[in-house]
Amino acid sequence: MKFLNFPFENDKENLNFLSKLNENSSIKNDLTYFTERYDEYHRARGCVLYINGMVGLDIARERINALYKSKNKHLDYINSMRVKFTGKCCVMCGAILSTQVDHFLPQGHFPEFSILSANLIPVCKCNQKKKNFTVGCSADEILLHPRYEKKLSKRIIKAKIRDHNNNVTIEINFVTPRDLKRKEQFEFHFKKIVDVELLKTMIIEKFNEMKCSPGSVVYSLAEPNLSKNELKSILFSHLKSLDKKHKSQNNWESVFIHALLERKTLNWIWRKLSVPNRKHDAPL
Ligand SMILES: [Zn+2]
Repeated sequence: MKFLNFPFENDKENLNFLSKLNENSSIKNDLTYFTERYDEYHRARGCVLYINGMVGLDIARERINALYKSKNKHLDYINSMRVKFTGKCCVMCGAILSTQVDHFLPQGHFPEFSILSANLIPVCKCNQKKKNFTVGCSADEILLHPRYEKKLSKRIIKAKIRDHNNNVTIEINFVTPRDLKRKEQFEFHFKKIVDVELLKTMIIEKFNEMKCSPGSVVYSLAEPNLSKNELKSILFSHLKSLDKKHKSQNNWESVFIHALLERKTLNWIWRKLSVPNRKHDAPL
């Protein structure tokens, strides 16, 4: 989950240029209508409830759809986005697994927005959970648009680690920041999109790695004789650097480090680090 602060393209100019190519005469005929729809998309902040379709203009819509897959240099921004965000934080769920560019409003339902930069988002395989869904039966059942919803980057996903010694268990919680409005929509987005079991598995793996080698999380954790405040400070600095690197507090690397700072887990780590005569980077 992340607000995608990535520049919009000059979509109207691009579309105007592309419509002048011979094969795109169907777009040229309806260019004004298309650009009006683009304006409407921005006004509605990508919310499907406030966007009219382009029923009746199917030839032009399909032509735009086909352009998405074309190699036209005026569409290089699509591939650039794919390259830039591969392996980075998924804007929909927070996993560090972004692999593809997806359409927020599904291409099958809204082909007219196939190449609209506002509708393009870098995501991971969670797009298989989203599929063609953007809105449910009630006003609270609506997915949040990463291009418009800044608060997607606030710390919302939190984890607790328990049973630290053996058979580690994880509890994942959705926690609303105090100043968050439309709490229900954020909660719905979390439940619909975030793969909680995958997140739990990732945290267990990272925690077990840390138990074998504390320095694998942050090198300075390998030091013997850290005070509790030093431990807290090291983890907190690392958390801040990850939040900054991913430009979101809901990236899954931060979720893990934040879980280490939770009171019971921090106490457990400190007790293990404080064993007398502990050697450099010895297992916990
Ligand atoms: Zn994802």
